[in-house]
Amino acid sequence: MELIPHIIDGKEIESRDGGEFETVDPWTRQAFARVALGTAEDAGLAVEAARRAFDRGPWPRMGFAERGAALHRLADLIDEHRDELALADTRDMGKPISDSTSKDVPRSAMNFRFFADHARLSAGEALPMDSGHHAYTRYEPAGVVSAIAPWNFPLMLESWKVAPALAWGNTVVLKPAEGTPTSATLLARLALEAGIPPGVFNVVHGFGPDSAGEALTKDPRVDRITFTGESTTGRVLSRAAAANLTPVSLELGGKGANLVFADADLESAVRWSIQAIFSNAGQVCLAGSRIYVQREVYAEFLDRFCAAAEALVIGDPKDRRTQVGPLSSGEHYQKVRSYVEGVPAEGGIMRTGGFGDGWVVRPTVITDVPADARVCREEIFGPVVVVAPFDTEAEAVSSANATPYGLNAMVFTENLSRAHRVAAALRAGTVWTNCFFIRDLRAPFGGVGDSGVGREGGNFSRDFFTEPKAVVMEL
Ligand code: NAD
Repeated sequence: MELIPHIIDGKEIESRDGGEFETVDPWTRQAFARVALGTAEDAGLAVEAARRAFDRGPWPRMGFAERGAALHRLADLIDEHRDELALADTRDMGKPISDSTSKDVPRSAMNFRFFADHARLSAGEALPMDSGHHAYTRYEPAGVVSAIAPWNFPLMLESWKVAPALAWGNTVVLKPAEGTPTSATLLARLALEAGIPPGVFNVVHGFGPDSAGEALTKDPRVDRITFTGESTTGRVLSRAAAANLTPVSLELGGKGANLVFADADLESAVRWSIQAIFSNAGQVCLAGSRIYVQREVYAEFLDRFCAAAEALVIGDPKDRRTQVGPLSSGEHYQKVRSYVEGVPAEGGIMRTGGFGDGWVVRPTVITDVPADARVCREEIFGPVVVVAPFDTEAEAVSSANATPYGLNAMVFTENLSRAHRVAAALRAGTVWTNCFFIRDLRAPFGGVGDSGVGREGGNFSRDFFTEPKAVVMEL
C-alpha cells in the first residue's frame, strides 16, 4: 500500500521512528493506504521548519500581491486536481463524491482566492487624534500557526484555516485528523508546485493525545493555535495553550435547531431541513439535529419530511448518485448506533430510519422523546434528527436555546418581523432564515458556549492570525 508522508520543509518524509498507521475506506471497510504516524519529534521538526521560514524566509516579507498570486496559483491547482482531491476525502471518510466534487473542493479553492484578495485589499485604520497626534494600525503576521483539523470536511476546513494564515504572512503546521490524511498531503504538494516556499506550509500526520496533535499545542515556538473539533477536545487544547499563553481559536460542536413556523413555505422548510441533517450523513457541526415545528403544521411537516428522508439515495459514496454514504469509521458508527438504540428506552418513536449495511445509518427521524433525552441534548454527529411540536414563538426560542451549544440555528417563516425578532433572540453564532449553509466569507463564523471561542472569516480571521499594532505619531 502507498505511504502518505508528512511534508516538512518541502520534503516528503516518513516518521523519524518509522511509525505508521492505516487509513480505511468506510464503505469497503478495508485499509487502502499507510500513513506516517507523527510523534512529538516529527511535530517539533515541522514547527522548527515553520519557525525558520517565518524568521528568515521570504514569505512574511513579501508584499500582499506576491503572496496572493501564489495563493491564487494554489487555488487554480486545486481546481485542476479536483477529482483527485475529491476522491481523497471520499475514500478517507465516506463523503458522497458528488458533494466532495461540487462543494468541498471548489469551496477550498475559493477560500484561498478569497483570503488572498481579502488580505491584499484590507486597509488599516487611520485615527487622527484630538491632541493632534496621528495613530494608525498595522496588521503584522503572528508567526507560526498550528492548525488542527477534524475529519468531516477535511480539505475544506483545512483551507479555511491555512488560507487566511498564509495570506497574512504566517507559516503553518497542519495536522489533519487521523482518519482523513490524504487530501492534506496532496494540498501541501500543490502548495510547493504553486511556488509557496518550503517550510511555509507543513503537514504532519498522527493522532491527538500523546502524538503529533498534542505536541503542536504545547510547543512554545507556536504563536497561534486554530482548532476545529469536539468541544471536549477544545477544553484540552485550551489548557495546553494556556501554559504558553498561546492565542487559540476553537470551532467546536453543535446541536442546531430549526424552527418551522406555521406561516413558513413548508416545501422549502422540508428541503432545507433535509439538507441540514442528512448531508454528509449528518456529520456536520452545523447539522439541524433538532426540528421544532408549530403545532398547526406539525403533522404535515412530519409526513413530508419522512417521505423526503426515505427518498434519499443511500450507497457507495464513490457512486455519483449516492446522497447518503456510510459513517466515517467503525468507532463512530457504534457511537451513532448507540444513540438510535437508546431511543425506545427514552420513550421515543422512530418514524423512519435504522441501520443499513456496514457502517450505514439510514436517515433516522425520531419523535415523542422528552426534552432531556440524550438524543435531544448531545451532539450525535450522524443522520439522526429529533422532531417536536411547539405552540408559541417564545416556546420555540426557549427550546432552541436549551442547549450548552450555540453554533447555529435556522428559522423558517414568511413573516419578516418574526424572522428578525427570532434571529435576535437565538443564542447562536449563525442564524439562517429560510436557508442553510449559505456563507459569506466576510461574515463571522464560530459559536457561543460549548460551540467555541472566537470567530473566523474576513476581518475576524485577520484579527486572529495577525498581531495588530498601534503606531502613534506626534506631528
Ligand atoms: P476531535 O476533537 O476528535 O479531533 C479533531 C482534531 O483534534 C483531530 O485532528 C485530532 O487528532 C486532534 N486532537 C484530538 N485530541 C487532541 C489533543 N489532545 N491535542 C491536540 N489535538 C488533538 O474531533 P473530530 O471527531 O475529528 O471532529 C468532529 C467534531 O468537530 C464534532 O464535534 C463537530 O461538531 C466538530 N466540528 C466543528 C466545526 C465548527 O466549525 N464549529 C466544524 C466541523 C466539525
